[in-house]
Amino acid sequence: MALSPKQRLVNQIALVTGASSGIGAGVAKALAADGATVVVNYHHDEEGANKTKQEIEDLGGKAITIHADVSKEEDVQSMFKQVIDQLGTVHILINNSGLQEDAKFLDMTLDQWNKVISVNLTGQFLCAREAAREFVRRGPQPEISKATGKIICMSSVHEVIPWAGHVNYASSKGGIMLLMKSMAQELAPHKIRVNSIGPGAIKTPINNEAWETPEAAAKLLKLIPYNRIGEVSDIGDVAAWLASDEADYVTGTTIFADGGMTLYPGFADNG
Ligand code: NAD
Repeated sequence: MALSPKQRLVNQIALVTGASSGIGAGVAKALAADGATVVVNYHHDEEGANKTKQEIEDLGGKAITIHADVSKEEDVQSMFKQVIDQLGTVHILINNSGLQEDAKFLDMTLDQWNKVISVNLTGQFLCAREAAREFVRRGPQPEISKATGKIICMSSVHEVIPWAGHVNYASSKGGIMLLMKSMAQELAPHKIRVNSIGPGAIKTPINNEAWETPEAAAKLLKLIPYNRIGEVSDIGDVAAWLASDEADYVTGTTIFADGGMTLYPGFADNG
């Protein structure tokens, strides 16, 4: 990855949750390549966070790392305080942290349900609320960006595709859809844009069993009309555009980056 010639995010501070691996790390690098200073949030993987920071610095960008559990209010508030103390403000939040805790519905425990909802949905609420409070406190900076602030929620195709064996995960992503849209409606008068990205199947640690053997990859490709499994850079490219002024009239929408997974591929051959 190299610095982008576009430099659409210069002088902007971007906080990316769960940026020690996978999509978060890819988005952090894409935003840095477009000129943003990036806060690499991590939960347990400090080494991964340092790797993301190093890769950003290697390409000539700027990054800091901050630990926080996004499901804990005091951690999230402390993280935003550290960002503001160290960097002055924040302009872009990428609400990316997420996990799966899969079980058949009949066997799913309350702990499995609560764990996924608290990280995937409550975590996005807590981070978005602190980001929006900071955007409103700081006010507009039109010389830096047309919008006062930008929030991008990492949702999933499973905000619209039901997923047996994963009802906690699909419920969290369905919840993100209306969290995002309701925030977008309420915050638009403050010139805060709120959108989601709905990735399809992207090669990351969250789903490696779905693509790492040829048999698993062939099964997965049946669900992807575009016939390739996604890379984290596919999501990084969308995030950098969505955070930039090129997307200034875009708010309250989910951009699916899924190779057509939401196109009911089972009907491609006459149903
Ligand atoms: P990943 O496991 O590499 O990344 C998830 C990140 O969330 C990790 O860095 C992890 O440390 C972090 N995290 C977990 N619990 C946390 C907590 N309590 N506080 C802070 N951070 C925490 O997997 P990924 O595929 O990169 O997932 C990133 C996001 O993309 C998730 O929201 C996931 O649901 C979504 N997504 C992924 C895919 C895919 O195919 N990989 C598809 C659709 C959506």
